[in-house]
Amino acid sequence: MANEKQSLVVLGAGVLGLTIAYLAALDSDVSFNITVIARELPEDMDSQAWASPYAGANWSPMELGGRDKRVKKWEEKTFNKLWDMIPTGLVKRLPTRFYTAQGQDISDLWWKDLVQNIRMLAPSDVPEPFKAGVAFDTVSVNPVEYLPWLQSELISRGVTFERRYVRKLDELKSLVGTDGILVNASSLGSRSIIGVEDTTLYPIRGQTILVHAPGLQECLIVELETGSEEPTYIIPRPGKGQPDTAILGGTFQPRNWDTSLDMQTARGIFDRCAALAPCLRSAESTILKHNVGLRPGREEGPRVELERIALPLHSTYDLILRNGGPTSERDHEQSILVIHAYGFGPAGFQRSWGAAEEVLELMKAQVSLKHNI
Ligand SMILES: Cc1cc2nc3c(=O)[nH]c(=O)nc-3n(C[C@H](O)[C@H](O)[C@H](O)COP(=O)(O)OP(=O)(O)OC[C@H]3O[C@@H](n4cnc5c(N)ncnc54)[C@H](O)[C@@H]3O)c2cc1C
Repeated sequence: MANEKQSLVVLGAGVLGLTIAYLAALDSDVSFNITVIARELPEDMDSQAWASPYAGANWSPMELGGRDKRVKKWEEKTFNKLWDMIPTGLVKRLPTRFYTAQGQDISDLWWKDLVQNIRMLAPSDVPEPFKAGVAFDTVSVNPVEYLPWLQSELISRGVTFERRYVRKLDELKSLVGTDGILVNASSLGSRSIIGVEDTTLYPIRGQTILVHAPGLQECLIVELETGSEEPTYIIPRPGKGQPDTAILGGTFQPRNWDTSLDMQTARGIFDRCAALAPCLRSAESTILKHNVGLRPGREEGPRVELERIALPLHSTYDLILRNGGPTSERDHEQSILVIHAYGFGPAGFQRSWGAAEEVLELMKAQVSLKHNI
């Protein structure tokens, strides 16, 4: 039918998939039938098979933003978007102190003009054993409230959600159709989905503790020593349902797939954080939850890229699953347009709005190409 809407299938319901679907649903230049397909949906906050529930989730300066212009742009856009969302209550304005063992010169920091109210701490405000500190205001969100909010916004705009485990891209062929677009926001799942098989993806294990601590109103971060897998941070987060919570971290363990809880590690995290914020040991502070999550690391950094993939898939190993039988698969040769958006490592929330905008631009370019043919 000539007037039928083009379909947009978003594979993945983490912060990236949801934000991309949100921008596509709201943009008046495009009109898609949008379906979000995922093994984990925002109600699955206890599943360790996805990363988004485990994020801090604050906007915190990272080294990659300083050396990669594209990532810097995503992070700037996301900071500004989240800052503007503070009045909604979904985003917290977060006063932050960053302590370092070396001297610090603010003029060297790539993010100095981005965060708010940046200033050097007076030496008397820098605790032992640190040498210097910087204070600034940034933002945090609470995945437990933020992801369901994104989902409810999408549902109210007619977006369909389907829980499904996808083994190979061919399975989405009929849903995407001949002129639709597939956004692949499947994070670490892209290692194993046949047709993507990105072996440069790897997990970065993160263990944290969720506390209820009304005394904590500031985010505290200690600069990570080169090679250390034990960052120390305290991130207070917003929460209408559950106010005054904070995430204590943590670990940063590349290529470690172990999602089991390590109590000795938890002890170390708690003690390091309590040394910075003694109120954690007071009677009004309680431990709510121990978390272990896997950040979706990728050797070359995040992948946001368009690819046309021929179906049925061909494999040099000749081991492709042939659901439906080889003959019917061969009868329906076609290709699908895929926009990949995965591998956001330790910073998927703080890159989400900027990266989603870039994905939307790629979509729009394809839509106008189609109309100009
Ligand atoms: C301890 C910890 C602390 C963090 N702190 C922060 C922070 O402070 N700030 C920040 O910005 N980021 C932080 N992060 C990183 C952030 O959580 C991730 O970068 C982000 O959640 C990645 O989002 P995503 O949408 O790409 O992937 P995910 O959240 O992993 O979602 C992937 C989606 O794809 C689906 N999927 C995967 N494979 C398949 C398949 N085969 N079939 C169907 N569906 C599939 C999953 O079910 C899920 O819906 C932290 C992460 C951890 C673990």
